[in-house]
Amino acid sequence: MLVVIQLSVLITSLVYLSIIAISFFCREKINSVDTRIYKNIVITNIISICVEMFLYLLTFTILEFNPGFVLLVSKIFVSLVLLWFVFLMKYAMALCFKIKFSEEEIRKKKHHLSLQINLVAFIACLVIICLPLEMVGDKSSGFYASGIATKAAFMLIMTTCVIIFYNLIRNFKKLNYREFTPLILLLVLVSISTVVQIMFPQLLLFNPVMSLITVIMYHTIENPDVKMIKELNIAKDVALKANNAKTEFLSSMSHEVRTPLNAIVGFSESLKEEDLNPKAKEEVDDIISASETLLEIVNGILDISKIEANKLEIVNSEYDTQKLFKELANLTKVRIGEKPIVLKVNIDESLPKVLYGDYARLKQIVLNLLTNAAKYTDKGEINFTVNSVITKNVCRLIISVKDTGRGIKKENISKLFTKFERLDEKNTTIEGTGLGLAITKKLVELMHGNIVVDSVYGKGSKFTVSIDQLVVKKPTITQVVEEEKVEVNNFAGKKVLIVDDNELNLKVAARLLQPYKMDIDKSSSGDDAISKIIDDNVYDLILLDDMMPHKSGSETLAELKQIEGFNMPVVVLTANAIEGMKEQYLKAGFDDYLAKPISKEELKRVLQKYLNK
Ligand code: ADP
Repeated sequence: MLVVIQLSVLITSLVYLSIIAISFFCREKINSVDTRIYKNIVITNIISICVEMFLYLLTFTILEFNPGFVLLVSKIFVSLVLLWFVFLMKYAMALCFKIKFSEEEIRKKKHHLSLQINLVAFIACLVIICLPLEMVGDKSSGFYASGIATKAAFMLIMTTCVIIFYNLIRNFKKLNYREFTPLILLLVLVSISTVVQIMFPQLLLFNPVMSLITVIMYHTIENPDVKMIKELNIAKDVALKANNAKTEFLSSMSHEVRTPLNAIVGFSESLKEEDLNPKAKEEVDDIISASETLLEIVNGILDISKIEANKLEIVNSEYDTQKLFKELANLTKVRIGEKPIVLKVNIDESLPKVLYGDYARLKQIVLNLLTNAAKYTDKGEINFTVNSVITKNVCRLIISVKDTGRGIKKENISKLFTKFERLDEKNTTIEGTGLGLAITKKLVELMHGNIVVDSVYGKGSKFTVSIDQLVVKKPTITQVVEEEKVEVNNFAGKKVLIVDDNELNLKVAARLLQPYKMDIDKSSSGDDAISKIIDDNVYDLILLDDMMPHKSGSETLAELKQIEGFNMPVVVLTANAIEGMKEQYLKAGFDDYLAKPISKEELKRVLQKYLNK
């Protein structure tokens, strides 16, 4: 009777497992570590059921005639049960590795471990086959295997259960219940069946328990739908393409807007130098200030989209702290203009002279705060304080900007760092986009810093930023204390070549260079510039536009560098202000970089650097 029940349970398990196996193997699945192990679990389980059924057949038919063969089959059966537990142990270990490592890392790192486990399991199976075993029982109550081989197998199975239990306990909180359930169930059922087995050795419970766990695992194993993943990948590609298109659009928009802006700023700057009547002078100033605001807006939109596309990188280098804060104070003074505001600057004396970090981004962060203070304060003072706390080689900069402006309402503080959010600005004429603080916060976060606001409506605000920078013990930058260079504004006798395909841009550049009295030559294409150099024209400086049809500035430079003995300084002119462009141009071999619209100050710096020799 017992034998009949056991056989029926085995047949049911086999049928169910076969259905699961067909469904599992026919389904398109991801080749992940756990599905690979699960495949072994299913196969081992099916084989072990078949072997057990074969064993029943043998014991009830030919046991008396061929006991040696029965014993061998019995040992194979015990080994298969052990193998199944080994695979389950590997599955539990893989789940725990998955928490810590990526699929790729598991594949590489854990490959060796998996091979070692397989080797140990193989040796264990061989040992079991070699160890003595005997069949106990009779035809009426059923047979069962007993002896050192079964005891050894049992000990090894218990060891795998302990390893599974250890892995589960260690990663209890991190595993999800779907992965956790079959393993816990296994431990409970194995404990119960071990007790039952000891009490009724004829009752062979291992295969039914194993089948139950294998079936439950099929439903709980993470088995992502390949079709869905394919669709998601397609959707991801589409989104990526759209995002790239957006970046490209921004880049070309930046170019398109900057080119006319270049002309507006350039001509108005030159006009200012002319002998104009006061009204015209004022209007020229207004044109300049309006174009500067427009430029700020374009830059802000570019910055925020770059940050959102994770394209903004922190570029670290050594920088002179005194120079940075002096520059910031000067820019704020210009921004305050005629307003009755006193700018108080207080820089910590123990601040290291040279620090290592992203100079440009740090400057942008602090300048945003100082500009806001100047913008939203009508009278009183702005306190610009820089403190430092040094621990080992890290200098924590604590920079605060405190104003006596109109302050921010408590309920608005939480909206402060949201993009395009402007508070109280609906009825005012203060220019802005509501992007400044959103960018500032993102930049601070990118630099692993912190920003806090403290404000009393009607009285004033205080923004404090803290950012860690590295202390440089032995600076490699040569000029820490800026040495005042003799400023030369007359470069008569020097020769400059401007290369730009846009006639208006050529006119603007020439107009901006006019006060310096040098000889100016113009080219409207890369090829024309190259032939001029080949024709032995010698220039003290070449200003080369990058985005030109047929031959770009970069391609032109590459060809120029092929000319023997070519060593003229070449400065790239570009309207492409996308982050990282400057570094790319310098890497490409340009000596310097001038962004359009060309700022008078920047142009002066370049001229002083290359012509004042
Ligand atoms: P924008 O200045 O271009 O409007 P910001 O993101 O820099 O954008 O600032 C968002 C809003 O926060 C501003 O519109 C203003 O209402 C408020 N704000 C920022 N700084 C100050 C300040 N120092 N004093 C008062 N209000 C401020």
